[in-house]
Amino acid sequence: MSEITPAAGPDDAAKAMPPCFVVDQMLGQLAKWLRLLGYDTIYSTSLDDADLARLAVAENRVLLTRDTQLARRRGVRALLVSSDSPPEQLKQVTTELDLLPADALSRCLRCNAPLQSIDRSVVCGLVPPYVWRTQEHFSVCPVCGRLYWRGTHWQRMQETLRHLRSEGLAQR
Ligand SMILES: [Zn+2]
Repeated sequence: MSEITPAAGPDDAAKAMPPCFVVDQMLGQLAKWLRLLGYDTIYSTSLDDADLARLAVAENRVLLTRDTQLARRRGVRALLVSSDSPPEQLKQVTTELDLLPADALSRCLRCNAPLQSIDRSVVCGLVPPYVWRTQEHFSVCPVCGRLYWRGTHWQRMQETLRHLRSEGLAQR
């Protein structure tokens, strides 16, 4: 007698993992927004097309590109980004890949490193007094040392995303 239990196959595991991205040189603003939403996103102006394709395959990343030829490369999981406008780009990517914020404000916008939370008392004097008075939680990038908090920039991004998502859903 044997029991049949539905085992979680590799496909299920892959689905549960948030997607990672590698982004071409023309999509710097989009890369920042994806990092802000917590997605592991490689972006560097020193990467050429061959590097981008190689990283996409080697690290199982979705390649986001404005380049039709690059998007058609064999064996590369790519999304051809159709607009020059960053909000439109974000709308396309979040809608087509059905993205929700993965773990928002968990990643450095500059270097993509996962942030570490830092005690509020440590950042006194390192951030503007108003920010220190009004914010409870701070994070630091272990690579570049940049400090993060959920300020107005963050709130604007959240609102934009909510707006884009509600528009995207309404069109379905
Ligand atoms: Zn950093």
